[in-house]
Formats: sequence, structure tokens, C-alpha cells
Amino acid sequence: MKILVAKDAGYCFGVRDAVKLAYDTANKNGDVYMLGDIVHNENVVKDLEDAGAKVVDSLDNIPKDKPVLFRAHGTSVETWNSAIKKNMNIVDATCPLVLEIHEEVKKLEAEGRKIIIVGDHGHDEVKGIASQVKDPIIISSSNEALSLRKYKSAGVVSQSTQTIENVQEIINIIMTKVFDLRFVNTICFPTKRNQSQIKELAEQCDLMVVIGSFTSANSNRLTALAKKRNNKSYQVTNADEINPDWFQKVEIVGVSAGASTPDIIINDVLEKIKKIGNVQKEIIYG
Ligand code: SF4
Repeated sequence: MKILVAKDAGYCFGVRDAVKLAYDTANKNGDVYMLGDIVHNENVVKDLEDAGAKVVDSLDNIPKDKPVLFRAHGTSVETWNSAIKKNMNIVDATCPLVLEIHEEVKKLEAEGRKIIIVGDHGHDEVKGIASQVKDPIIISSSNEALSLRKYKSAGVVSQSTQTIENVQEIINIIMTKVFDLRFVNTICFPTKRNQSQIKELAEQCDLMVVIGSFTSANSNRLTALAKKRNNKSYQVTNADEINPDWFQKVEIVGVSAGASTPDIIINDVLEKIKKIGNVQKEIIYG
């Protein structure tokens, strides 16, 4: 059996830097507080909590002398302003690629366009993008795009982790509704790379394993891309969920992982697959 591992499987640089900053800040200050989970991965959140990085649901629940860490996927303007007003010690881990989306959406608004964000309702990154402009419309699916009314001029950005396919479908519909449309493709390059690797792997491999929490939209999207091309595709959150029966008559296994899956879990899963298939070493793909 051969194991091909997507080169960009796992943490993107934005998440990697944010997690490191959370550990460093907790080490330095005793504790650090975050408004929600730093990544959608239960193992990472638990480990960070043990290290002193705590999750709260409001700035009011953070002790005065402790820092607040703003996560990789960005923070709304309102939250930034109230933290500044409270004179809090802010540790900013916002990914530079998310900041670019904030800039792009503001430019589109400055051109007088109605703003449309292609993204998941209620997702923190989408809330952060939406807070940069006035009354944006958020669209997550083609069905929602179909009910959009007509606009003379609009500007579209997307959440960084959307699939190209979903954004394309939605843009095709929006094109029929807007006369003067400008779309800035803000799917980030780590997401694009990860998605293109998983599509190629799913076509070449007999079995696909995607590692990631089911609470991670990014991991779920990767699994959906794999399943579309290879019906022997499975998502697991850790090595215990690997079922040896999946590997019968399998010659090539493809492995990828969502942007919120830590290396330690990826390595555990690889070790388990190697044991099942009696494989010495995996091959990096991409
Ligand atoms: S998914 Fe992309 S935009 Fe989001 S944190 Fe990672 S690199 Fe940054």
C-alpha cells in the first residue's frame, strides 16, 4: 500500500501563527482570553485551555489585568472598538489574508457598490468582514443567490475558506442580477492549494482520509470535495476513528486535513494507517 499525503494538509500559516501566539501569551501572562475557540478543533482547544488560554463569550468576562487575543479569522469592528475603549491589552492574531479581505470590501464599498459576501452565516470570519461595511448581504448558497433582488452595482468578496465551486455557482447567479458587478476573489491561497491537492488526490487514490473536526467548516468542505470524486472518502477527527476494514484491497491511500487540524493528530492518523498497510514511509503529494 502507498500513502500520499497532501503537502498543505493541516494548519495554514494564519492558524499556526495564532496558536503559537496564544501559547506564548499564556506563558508570559499566566492567562490569555479569547472570544471563542481559536480553531475548530476540540483537541487544540483543550490543550490550550490547560496552558492558560481561556475562552469567554464577552469582553466583560475578562479580568482587567489579562490580555485578550483576537483570533486568526478576524474580529468585528464593534468588538475592537469596545476593547480599545476598555483600554484592554489586545494581542492581535488576525491573519494578514483576512485583513486583506477587510481592505478589499471597504474599497468596494467606497466605489458605491452594494456589498455581497459569499460565506457561512454566523461564522466569525464572515461577521468580521461584514462589520467593515454598512448593511452587506451574506449569501451562502445558490438558493440564497436566486432570491437576491436586482442591483445596479455590487461588489463581491468571499470568506477565505470557501470552495471555488460554491463561489463560482453563486457568482454565476449574481451576474444575472447585477448590471455592474466587481468580484474580488478572496479565497486565500492556502485554501486554494489544499482544495486543489485534495481534488487531485481523490481522483488518483483508492481511498481518501480527511482529518478534521466535524465542527470545522473547512474540513467538512474538503471531505465534500473528496467525496464528489471518490466515494471511498472518510472524515476522521483522530486515529481511533480509522477503521481497518476500509483498507481492504486498497493500494493507494490519500490523506489530507483541514486548516484547523494540528500536526500531532495528522501524525497519529498516519502512524495508524502505516501499521494497517505495513508501510514504512508516506509520500508527500503536491
Ligand atoms: S484559512 Fe487562509 S485566511 Fe484563514 S487563517 Fe488560514 S491562511 Fe489565513
